[in-house]
Amino acid sequence: MNQSVAFLGLGAMGAPMAGNLLEAGFELQVWNRTASRCAPLVAQGARAFDQIAQTIGQTDCVVSMLADDRATAEVMLAPNGVIAQAQPRTLVIDCSTNSPSMAREVAAAARARNIFYLDAPVSGSIGQARARELVFMVGGESDHVQAAEPLFRAMGRLTRHMGPSGAGATIKLINNMLSGTMNAALAEACAVALAAGLDPQAAIDVLGEGAAASRLTRTKLPKMFAGEFEPQFQLRLMDKDLQYFLTLAQQLDQPVALASLVRSQMQAACLAGLGGRDVSAVFAHIRPGVYR
Ligand code: NAP
Repeated sequence: MNQSVAFLGLGAMGAPMAGNLLEAGFELQVWNRTASRCAPLVAQGARAFDQIAQTIGQTDCVVSMLADDRATAEVMLAPNGVIAQAQPRTLVIDCSTNSPSMAREVAAAARARNIFYLDAPVSGSIGQARARELVFMVGGESDHVQAAEPLFRAMGRLTRHMGPSGAGATIKLINNMLSGTMNAALAEACAVALAAGLDPQAAIDVLGEGAAASRLTRTKLPKMFAGEFEPQFQLRLMDKDLQYFLTLAQQLDQPVALASLVRSQMQAACLAGLGGRDVSAVFAHIRPGVYR
């Protein structure tokens, strides 16, 4: 296979996803706002460019993995961005976690130029990205989802078409409201277990077998007990996702009392300087002094 793909956004998630496309045999062009982040992929065989227009010039498929709505607007909607510069019939697969309204805005701009846009955020973190175990939740037209299938298969283990543009972004925010709430609950569990003098490993073992056990219990509880918050998923990204979730709930006029509370905690942790740490560092915010 030698289909050419342009990949935009080589952060913690984008870099391993792009690496998997290379390994699967795609010809890869890469661009990242901070150009130095392209170097490891160039060493593996990708071609790097300074401009988005050059990066997407020869491809009929673009994958992006960017921080948020703002980054997506700059990369997709600017005059020198993807939608203005891509050839008609280019397939654009945006894996960033964005708001549904941003996904629909980009999809509408794309449709006006006969460009095929999918909102395709992922669940799974860096480990799942490396191991091709991501789950893609996709909004857009089913023909385009089908056309994107070889790329999804090269980067993940499951793809689910959720509905029209914005549906992928919507379920992703719901997913992250749940995982953000679970992170905040784990932080409180950890604080009380420590205050009660429980043995951390015994608590991890037992909670990992209880009814609330999950991948988060297994991965985040040990980080909290150890006070080790090397970022897998930055706390500021979770804060952003909860902010988008609250906006969505407000637009839909749905009460979301828990999510409001959890977002306040994440936001306060960001304001306290923990935004660049892992989301599990919300523990350091509710139990100050354990980590700085
Ligand atoms: P990250 O390491 O911070 O990477 C963010 C990427 O966005 C970088 O390539 C960054 O470029 C780029 N970017 C930021 N602002 C930009 C702008 N204004 N213009 C152009 N590019 C910009 O974050 P990540 O962990 O890879 O997350 C990427 C996306 O995946 C986010 O939407 C996140 O919510 C989502 N996600 C993350 C995880 C996870 O576990 N990490 C899991 C699922 C989904 P620079 O290198 O120049 O800063």
